[in-house]
Amino acid sequence: MQKLESVQAGTVYMGRLSHNDDLLDALSELCREKGVTLGRIEAIGAVQRARLGYYDQHTRQYQFFTLDQGLEIASLMGNISLKDGSPMVHAHVTLADANGRTFGGHLAQGCPVFACEYILQVFSGPDFVRSLDEQTGLPLWS
Ligand code: ZN
Repeated sequence: MQKLESVQAGTVYMGRLSHNDDLLDALSELCREKGVTLGRIEAIGAVQRARLGYYDQHTRQYQFFTLDQGLEIASLMGNISLKDGSPMVHAHVTLADANGRTFGGHLAQGCPVFACEYILQVFSGPDFVRSLDEQTGLPLWS
């Protein structure tokens, strides 16, 4: 079953996070503060270290790994929807090291910000609510 809805682009916020903020927590807090339950987010900047997730499709569990070095946020993109009645930021990042090598994955808590500039766009439209998808084991839009 697929989900496809029309949404309308609304307010765009542009800002930066504080040094030492947890990247995922700070973006989630921003959405709660602004009451954003539907939207998109993008960011660039740098983190002091990183913790990312990889979803193992066989075990249906996230495997988390850490990168213990300063890394550029070459790209962060994600969406905001509802899970358990609260806005949930689902974001993926591409991080680059001093040689331009990249790592990527599902953004998890544990990425302290060095510097980060974000753009948050609010959408209006029908609720997108996450619930357990039996086929994948993931909390997907139902
Ligand atoms: Zn993900």
